[in-house]
Amino acid sequence: MAKIDREELIQKIPREQQDLLESLLEKRDQLVDQIKNLSAASLNQNRQAGEELADVGGDNFMQEMELSLVGEEEKMYYLIEEALERMQNGEYGICNDCGDKIPRGRLEAIPYAKLCVGCKEKREENEGMPQGQDYQDAEELVE
Ligand SMILES: [Zn+2]
Repeated sequence: MAKIDREELIQKIPREQQDLLESLLEKRDQLVDQIKNLSAASLNQNRQAGEELADVGGDNFMQEMELSLVGEEEKMYYLIEEALERMQNGEYGICNDCGDKIPRGRLEAIPYAKLCVGCKEKREENEGMPQGQDYQDAEELVE
């Protein structure tokens, strides 16, 4: 994964993207913390389960819940990394499908979006992607 240098990037990107960069970086830091905490919690639970050998089913269930949480956080983390790379390449804020500018309001709500609303909706209609995930417009839709 490309290392993102904040100082370098902030020089490079247009002024109107600077606060979006800050919110991407802030969100990324939060996710790193969350992933660390969740991983640590899972490890602790593994250890306890091993020591006590009690109610294994319950522990597995909890562990799976946490692992799937880590999965969500990690997915988001990679989307943010991708957005940062697009910033670095000067491709940030451009819709992946139609090449139009993604409206500022959408980027403020979802700074890692890589489709405009129109294209996102089109993809949802055409491909029946699962609903209810704000970041589905990025990663899952490989085309
Ligand atoms: Zn578009």
